[in-house]
Amino acid sequence: MAAALECDVVVVGAGVAGLWAWRRLRARGGRAVLVSAGPIGAGQTLASQGIIHGGVKYALTGEASRASAMIAAMPGVWRACLEGMPGDGDPDLRAVRTLTDHQFLWTTGGIVSRLGGVAASRALRTGVERVREEDRPEAFRGAARGIDLYRVEEPVIEPASLVRALAGDGEGIVAARAGSVTLAREGEGVVVGFEGATGERAEIRAKCAVCAAGAGNEALMRGVRGLDGRGEVWTQRRPLHMVMVRGDAGAMPLVWGHCVTASALPRATVTSQRDAQGRTVWYVGGAIAESGVERTREAQIAHARQEMGDVIPWVDLAGAQWATLRVDRAEGLPEGRAPGARPDTPVVRRAGNVVFAWPTKLAFAPLLAEMVEREVGAMAGGPALGCDRGMIGDAIGALPWEEEGVQWS
Ligand code: FAD
Repeated sequence: MAAALECDVVVVGAGVAGLWAWRRLRARGGRAVLVSAGPIGAGQTLASQGIIHGGVKYALTGEASRASAMIAAMPGVWRACLEGMPGDGDPDLRAVRTLTDHQFLWTTGGIVSRLGGVAASRALRTGVERVREEDRPEAFRGAARGIDLYRVEEPVIEPASLVRALAGDGEGIVAARAGSVTLAREGEGVVVGFEGATGERAEIRAKCAVCAAGAGNEALMRGVRGLDGRGEVWTQRRPLHMVMVRGDAGAMPLVWGHCVTASALPRATVTSQRDAQGRTVWYVGGAIAESGVERTREAQIAHARQEMGDVIPWVDLAGAQWATLRVDRAEGLPEGRAPGARPDTPVVRRAGNVVFAWPTKLAFAPLLAEMVEREVGAMAGGPALGCDRGMIGDAIGALPWEEEGVQWS
């Protein structure tokens, strides 16, 4: 017979959504167990650029909506957590590395007026401030005069340190073999079955389940009787083909920001880290990644070389190495929205005592956790469940450029 744990809520998926919601439920005294299949954070969270968006994107399109007010609040919520003064139920994230507390928007020339409008948008809490030529930071010192530079008060965090901080000492996290997790309704409750790290079959019985498994929510949904065959699409994937560029720290400055055009989608979004050898790694998304889905790896690298030559021509990338990463964004669809529509807020869908949750953006994780808590209801307190305390050290996933088998050229 399978070993069984009992709790109030079982959270499935250890990306930012599951980790944050689980932390919040436990902070409320609920007996919440998190099931992690595969390395913690693997999936979108460790593959993300770590930008805590505050709504500049909405300002670019001139869109002032409910969504823009929601996202504008996020940098403040995160800063409070990062500074060790979290709001009620949120985690203390002092252990998370903030890579930068601000980033930049820059142009390749010609759309000054559009960005002037952004700067004037005082409705947003996110400040956008023009940087004078003499005040340009090191990364932009070589830029030509016609290029406009704006400073945006949106931080960028290091995703691996976030995952580590949220997982804590691992108490309350159960490690399952990837691909082995099943979810079913049983009587008034739910049962999550899985194979543990050593292959033994185990079960968690709970009053309700929160599925925060990113792209894995699709399979979990199929497993819950009554959810398949509804004829309504709850989730979708949006593929990306990201680009990684690495080179000597002396040649490649650390850059965080978006090269913008008149479109709402930046031409390139660049975030940076130093790797274990001290090299600079640029992680590049934006239009390059979206348009690159149809390209082969080689074609994507060729395209990215050309684009980066236009976007940031003052940095000499002749000695740099290039690699790519294919990854899907997994999104929920809000009720009534047609498939293909881009959600601009977190999405929670509920079927009885099973809640499916998608943050839409890493930045929205705190808001999603609140929404999940509302759905689940405050859980009664109880003793924490026994778990492998020592498992976390090896169980955190790797950053994309540190994965084994990345092909650099
Ligand atoms: P995931 O991070 O995908 O986590 C889901 C977890 O569930 C995974 O660990 C997976 O292994 C696990 N899982 C799957 N199936 C099962 C199962 N059956 N049982 C148990 N576990 C399972 N947002 C921002 O705000 N700022 C950014 O800069 C940003 N950059 C991004 C860049 C890229 C390339 C991508 C892809 C996304 C980016 N996002 C960004 C969006 C953000 O990363 C996601 O919205 C967020 O990480 C989703 O978190 P999640 O926990 O829902 O999913």
